[in-house]
Amino acid sequence: MNPNTDFIPFAKPSTGVEEENAAVRVIRSGWLTSGIEVKQFEKEFAEFVGVKHALAINSATAGLHLALEALGIQKGDLVATPSYTFTATSEVIRYLGADPVFVDIEKGSWNMDPQKLEEVIISHKGKIKAVLPVHMGGQHCRMNEICALAEKYDLKILEDAAHSFPVDTDRGYSGTIGDAGVYSFYANKTITTGEGGMLVTNNDEIAKRVSIMRLHGIDRDVWNRYTSSEGSWKYAVVAAGFKYNMTDIAAAIGREQLKKAQRFLSDRKAIADQYSSGLSHIDFIQSPPTAVYHSWHLYIIRLIEEKLTIGRDRFIEELKKLGIGTSVHYIPLHTMPYYRELYSLKESDFPETWEKYNCSISIPIFPGMSETQVNRVISAIKNIGEQFRRSHI
Ligand SMILES: *Cc1c(COP(=O)(O)O)cnc(C)c1O
Repeated sequence: MNPNTDFIPFAKPSTGVEEENAAVRVIRSGWLTSGIEVKQFEKEFAEFVGVKHALAINSATAGLHLALEALGIQKGDLVATPSYTFTATSEVIRYLGADPVFVDIEKGSWNMDPQKLEEVIISHKGKIKAVLPVHMGGQHCRMNEICALAEKYDLKILEDAAHSFPVDTDRGYSGTIGDAGVYSFYANKTITTGEGGMLVTNNDEIAKRVSIMRLHGIDRDVWNRYTSSEGSWKYAVVAAGFKYNMTDIAAAIGREQLKKAQRFLSDRKAIADQYSSGLSHIDFIQSPPTAVYHSWHLYIIRLIEEKLTIGRDRFIEELKKLGIGTSVHYIPLHTMPYYRELYSLKESDFPETWEKYNCSISIPIFPGMSETQVNRVISAIKNIGEQFRRSHI
């Protein structure tokens, strides 16, 4: 291992002997699927974020699907959501036969613009039933304004919180302020169970519906009321549900990750601070805003293209040559063949989204990334920028 030359990945899961032991413990217990570990993980997670209900699922995509279903979204309904997100956010709307209505992002961040949201709500005259904001990169959306609009126009709110665990806010941790929120434990997210997610809500009815629908629509509680003395093999199917439950192996790993979540967040914050001060005097990039609620899942820099002779794609290639991994979050959904053709969209329909996409690069950030590595990334960015600086006439 040589921190001065080794490839620096853009993300890396942080797992150790604790996660290994937890998985082994469950495997040896003989109970592998949803059981006591899932129950404990849910309880601990709910306490951590300060919500009434936390329901473990096998992916955030599954959680978003379940949440929209529980909110009553159906065929013909419209759901307002950003184009600037991963396809999971929007595909779940289509699962239910509803349609996404894309909203452009705001100037100062990568998040949905509340003002543009209101314009979209008004122009669709009462057909929008829910809003599905995404806390991009871990930066919280302006939820106060989004909540006010939801109240004014009687909309449900589902937060795609895949990036935003944990965020310490004035309410403690991020929890959810909408009707429901969904976190992801995918391999490159801030805590991981390999694959997995958590749906949080303070609404008893949503929690009830989700707990039934995540496991085949089986309502054991209802059944128990009538047959409390019956055997455990008896159950009642009350809906055509899904198979979205989390395994105990995943939950046991998640419980260990949860114990480390605060430390992971401190590590990420320290890296973000080091980047922000190291990059602050460079005129050809803009670093992300730092003052706001953030989990620092992603650190997204923005190239100021007028200052450079190369574009974003070439900049990424140059970073790769210097051993630095990057990613782009995200190729806007409105430019994807499926959505573009289905809704006859064009790139310029969401100007801020299109502009940001073309100059954004996600640079490495993960717990355990060393100061040397962070400095290498900063120097590489500086050097590439100097090499390809546009000269003034
Ligand atoms: C990762 C991600 C998801 C999906 O999470 P999975 O757990 O992989 O299903 C949804 N939305 C966003 C914004 C994501 O980044």
